[in-house]
Amino acid sequence: MTSLRHTTFRFTLLPTATQEQTLWRHAGAARFAFNQALRLVKDALEAKRRGEDVFVPWTGFDQINSINKWKRSAAAGLGEDGKPGLAWRGEVLQQVFEEAAVDLGRALANFSARRTNGSRGAGFPKFKKRSDARQAFRIRNKTSGGRSAVEVGDAGSPRSIRLPKLGLLAVREDTRKLRRMIARGRAKILFATISHETGGRWTVSLNLEAAALHPANRHEVVANPIGIDRGLQTFAVLADGMGREVERIEAPRPLRRALPKLRRLSRDLSRKKKGSRNRHRARLRLSKFHQRIGNVRRAFVHRVSSRLAKTHSHLVVETLSTAGLMQTRMARSLADSSWAKFADALTYKLQWRGGALQRANRFYPSTRRCSACSEVGEAIPLSERTFRCRFCGHEADRDTNAAACLAQYPGVQWPPVAAKQAETKNVCREESAGAWARPTRGTVLVEAERASARRPRRAVLAA
Ligand SMILES: [Zn+2]
Repeated sequence: MTSLRHTTFRFTLLPTATQEQTLWRHAGAARFAFNQALRLVKDALEAKRRGEDVFVPWTGFDQINSINKWKRSAAAGLGEDGKPGLAWRGEVLQQVFEEAAVDLGRALANFSARRTNGSRGAGFPKFKKRSDARQAFRIRNKTSGGRSAVEVGDAGSPRSIRLPKLGLLAVREDTRKLRRMIARGRAKILFATISHETGGRWTVSLNLEAAALHPANRHEVVANPIGIDRGLQTFAVLADGMGREVERIEAPRPLRRALPKLRRLSRDLSRKKKGSRNRHRARLRLSKFHQRIGNVRRAFVHRVSSRLAKTHSHLVVETLSTAGLMQTRMARSLADSSWAKFADALTYKLQWRGGALQRANRFYPSTRRCSACSEVGEAIPLSERTFRCRFCGHEADRDTNAAACLAQYPGVQWPPVAAKQAETKNVCREESAGAWARPTRGTVLVEAERASARRPRRAVLAA
């Protein structure tokens, strides 16, 4: 049982004109620091290629040292006092430099990871541009003399946040819930990420460490797995192991209608002459629409995942391959990223409440398997709404059947062992139906390899 959880609160900032200048200056400094640190890495790599014996800064720790050393050196120029160093470095919070360096370290680590495990992922870090849609900087919440640097809702101004170097900033939303958590010692602000997207407002995301939920809000027992299938037309379909549909969740209307509008807006943009005023306007419209969709999606994902984490203790979803996620086209990627965010939110919210989200082995044929007799048939075309079992004649909505198969997953060994063993093991059906044994990662991997060699014939209930 985890005693702490991490969560995020997000507020819209309403800065004064002077504060807005300071925000831009910090976002610029973060970009500058990231780029400069990256420049130092590239130079070092280049020198190494020429055969020089140089140190290439790589980890976040290396990056912090490297940028700190550089900004005090003559290479960064001369200050007003004539001493070497970056002239304007005193105008911004020094942490912004360090956090940007940490980001670069993380990006390089992702790049290394991809090369070692062969997965698709981030490439080598690229320089950030002033024209990038998102501009952001991050500050750590330091505490000195019992007073934290980032403060929410100071007395007299509940809709406000205090940030170092920026002072008291007005926010649009009420901060009461967060204020109460902090006052009771149930939450601590770790980081504040301040960001701006083209055509939008400045927002602050507060990353917190919070106390575990009260036992009354936690599940006492983890039981009755419920499967969640991504529906063809609905966002999700929930069903239990007996094949009964529990719920059907529709995506909000703006999300369902987003695609044609996104297509139209990006087509508009591509038709405008480069560098023209109209192109600038078209880009702004597209970016605003992206933000709106993002907001709707965020609200939807959090609302649904919170509700499901409260009402269910054990949910099973199919595993999405992340490699495919990156390659897919706009339509799929929009849906996939919503689903991925939904599954992530469900994972941690269930954890907070003492429940669990289980991801079915990606070879598990939930759409081809019959939830009544466990036989696996041929793939059914996407146009077919009904699942019909050719072994036992069971008929059900295809999404409901798939969700039911996912609900049965904890008791099903997949890929199956030899069919002969299956007959004996099937006897155990009654006892195993309610029990839940989480398959260990090791076994799943070993079995997955075996599955690729020959096609699985039967699903088997594990004792
Ligand atoms: Zn059947």
